[in-house]
Amino acid sequence: GMKQRLLVVANRLPVSANRRGEDHWSLEISAGGLVSALLGVKDVDAKWIGWAGVNVPDEIGQRALTRALAEKRCIPVFLDEEIVHQYYNGYCNNILWPLFHYLGLPQEDRLATTRNFESQFNAYKRANQMFADVVYQHYQEGDVIWCHDYHLMFLPKCLKDHNINMKVGWFLHTPFPSSEIYRTLPSRSELLRSVLCADLVGFHTYDYARHFVSACTRILGLEGTPEGVEDQGRLTRVAAFPIGIDSERFKRALEITAVKRHINELTHRFAGRKVMLGVDRLDMIKGIPQKILAFEKFLEENPDWNDKVVLLQIAVPTRTDVPEYQKLTSQVHEIVGRINGRFGTLTAVPIHHLDRSLDFHALCALYAVTDVALVTSLRDGMNLVSYEYVACQGSKKGVLILSEFAGAAQSLGAGAILVNPWNITEVADSIRHALTMLPDEREKRHRHNYAHVTTHTAQDWAETFVCELNETVAEAQLRT
Ligand code: UDP
Repeated sequence: GMKQRLLVVANRLPVSANRRGEDHWSLEISAGGLVSALLGVKDVDAKWIGWAGVNVPDEIGQRALTRALAEKRCIPVFLDEEIVHQYYNGYCNNILWPLFHYLGLPQEDRLATTRNFESQFNAYKRANQMFADVVYQHYQEGDVIWCHDYHLMFLPKCLKDHNINMKVGWFLHTPFPSSEIYRTLPSRSELLRSVLCADLVGFHTYDYARHFVSACTRILGLEGTPEGVEDQGRLTRVAAFPIGIDSERFKRALEITAVKRHINELTHRFAGRKVMLGVDRLDMIKGIPQKILAFEKFLEENPDWNDKVVLLQIAVPTRTDVPEYQKLTSQVHEIVGRINGRFGTLTAVPIHHLDRSLDFHALCALYAVTDVALVTSLRDGMNLVSYEYVACQGSKKGVLILSEFAGAAQSLGAGAILVNPWNITEVADSIRHALTMLPDEREKRHRHNYAHVTTHTAQDWAETFVCELNETVAEAQLRT
């Protein structure tokens, strides 16, 4: 029969758009795992709705971009600069992101945030309404609408107010914090009520789902059940759907000649030393200073390892215009400089810190050659880097040291060494444990994680969510 249509709504379209002329755009599709997962759901015809990340004030430009994107199954939402500033930089990145990751703000920022709160929240709602308007234009009866992330918490309500029969799911890619944290948000009730308009609400882990249900019971006084949240007989289904990666894509990459050559080069370059790897956006939540301090402690306590181990830290720049992030960058540089000065020799330094991103193939080569991956997130919705590392370690069977505060700790806990990143003594001990682990134990731990990563893919995740959403709606119709 006809394929079911899926409208994926997310803040950003998976493209970068560059204007080449008045009515000409060049597009680059980001080939990430989420994109292939969502576009590859079985028996589903998926389209993407979101902001293209550029300001397009003129109608000619908007029409040309819309046409170009249509070929990539993408539909743009046009946001002007003022609304991007208030909704995206303001409400999303300065209020929701830190709150959902349990990050405190410095006192002055906190007061500024308090003062700007209302105008930013209003912009947030206006922006969400603009996404909703685009959904209305493209909606056909029977479509499934899947809203993504903290940028679009107000969207389920806009959609259901417009048409109660729309099948609406909402998924959060970050943690959902303890209700004790969440309840400090001035707009706490309005956002919860909006999310509850969805038929299905999904999180990466049971903990996040439980926190959400607690927020609904404590703040709204609703009833939490094993199925979700009930409000006057209407159920919003709440459940955990841990995301995965397209593990085959990584395995295929390792078969490419250029990648193999790169792996060989790296192996020679670091011959005689164990190599530890960190790959993170340079964000407060990733615990990069904590990681580097733990590595310093390890070097301090294990002088025999000093010229036998190196830490490669890829720190992908993010939000570089924000002072807090600039401060983090210089803080990390200072610590790295100190440690390299302290433990370096004329020919080698213990830390290679790179402020840049790598292309997919270079990243795969690094994942494959390194002996230990070190993930020390202070909070992290899932952390896909840990999954990608495991997927690329088929032959080497390296060790994953993983923060218990990453969602991935719930699924890779059996094979990883779990750590509290705030306890640098524990992390330093784990580094020694990882570096000296016997092959049998490495093999056993790797086998656990590899089995998980290769059988819980991004595509399974997307299919499970969409299927559950269809079932939830069908059950609700039976009840009424
Ligand atoms: N990544 C990348 N280029 C790089 C480093 C990382 O594309 O130079 C990718 C990496 O492969 C992973 C993603 O960025 O898929 C990071 O996802 P994760 O869930 O670990 O953290 P997030 O950045 O989403 O907080």
